[in-house]
Parts: sequence; C-alpha cells; structure tokens
Amino acid sequence: MSSSHTNLEGREQGRKTAPGPILLLGAPGVGKGTQAKELVKIWGIPQISTGDLLRGNVAQGTELGRTAKEIMGRGELVPDSLVNEMVAVRLEQPDTAKGYILDGFPRTLPQAGWLDSRLATQAGVLPVVAVSIQVDYNQLLRRITGRRNCPVCQTIYNVHGKPPKRDGFCDVDGAALVQRADDTEKVFEERMKAYAASTAPVVEHYRAMGRFAEVDGDRPIAEIAAGIVAAVERLRS
Ligand code: AMP
Repeated sequence: MSSSHTNLEGREQGRKTAPGPILLLGAPGVGKGTQAKELVKIWGIPQISTGDLLRGNVAQGTELGRTAKEIMGRGELVPDSLVNEMVAVRLEQPDTAKGYILDGFPRTLPQAGWLDSRLATQAGVLPVVAVSIQVDYNQLLRRITGRRNCPVCQTIYNVHGKPPKRDGFCDVDGAALVQRADDTEKVFEERMKAYAASTAPVVEHYRAMGRFAEVDGDRPIAEIAAGIVAAVERLRS
C-alpha cells in the first residue's frame, strides 16, 4: 500500500474519530497550550486558546484588546461577557464542526454554564469532555518564569526544560524569543489566586458531570498527550 494511500486512510479515520469538543483545564503553566498543539496534530481539530485570542486583540489594538490589556497585565480575569462573546464568534468558524480543543476556557462557573447551554442546544454535537492537567506549584512557577515564546511560529520553549538550540532564538525560524508580560513571579501569584478562586470550581463542575479525567502533567510532552488521548477515548467509549 502506498504511503499516500495510508495517509489518506489515516486522515479519513481521523475524521471518523474526531473527538468533539475537548476542554483542557489546569493552572497557569501546566502546559495546556503545549498539549493543545500536540492534540491538534493527533486529531486534526483546531485549538481555541482564549489567552491567544485576547493577546491577538491586544496586539491589534481592538476595543476588546484595549479593555483586556491591563486586566491581563495584572493577572486577573477578563469579564465573562467579553470572553464568551469572543468564543461565540470563534465557534461559528466552519473548522470547529468536528470538534475543537478549548484551551483556557471556561475559566469561571458562569463561562462553563454559558458553554454547557450553548452545546446543549446544538444538535449532533458530542457532549464536552474535560481533561485537567496536574502539576505542583513550585514546578509551575519554574515553568512560567522560564517560558519563552516565538512571536512568529508560536513555538513554546522553556529555558529550564526545553531550551532552544541557540539561546534566545527560535529553532524553527530564528526569530528572537519573547517572554509574555504576565510570565513574571509577581503576576504568576495573582494568576494562581484567580485560578484558585474562579477556575478550581470549574474543574469540580466537570468532575461532578462525570465526563472528566485528570492527567499527570509532570512527564515528557508526548507521554502527557498520549495520556490525554487515552482518557478521552475512555470517556467517549
Ligand atoms: P492564558 O494564556 O490562558 O494563560 O491567559 C492569559 C490571560 O488572559 C489570563 O491571565 C487572563 O487575564 C486572560 N484570559 C484568558 N482566558 C480567559 C478566560 N477564559 N476568562 C477570563 N480571562 C481569560
């Protein structure tokens, strides 16, 4: 069998097994963004990161971006109504038809309620499956303060765990790496407070619904991704 035939079959199988809407939950720095990118490759469905969408709005200077910039700089949460509206617009895109990976949303119980009711009204859409990635506090702090991003291809590095080959520059396109303005120890503490107050209850909400799994995020990237895929397959069977 030719390899192009095999690839085509693989894509078709991928289409059949597209897992519907997946929520990646977890504290700042657990690796939601990194894992979402792995899962995009495995499932061929898009990543929807509210953090990335908001940063895009900030970069473009939209009205939403102007409102969100200071809130994000303080490590606080952007108001639910603004984030829900932004997600609603993104979910209208046709690439979400077979599923998507929501990364960083929902982050509050009202956002979860909004998403649950929206999905409940959509015929033929699989119910949501939520996966929470677990990593301990000190490890998160180390990851957050060591994180560096490529502004061109969005590859995520870490000066401690996954350094670029040439210090400060992207392996893929050679662009100078940047540190997110909110990836400092001080802002991290605020983001952890927001997580404990607003997002930890979201984890409990989905745990109580029974379509929920937890995976250990303190492992190599590919192992965590395999753990997430296995958990989703279990929950969907
Ligand atoms: P992230 O890239 O997911 O760490 O998000 C960066 C920042 O964007 C957060 O600290 C919040 O200020 C804001 N943000 C991202 N997603 C949400 C959300 N679902 N609700 C409210 N604020 C959000």
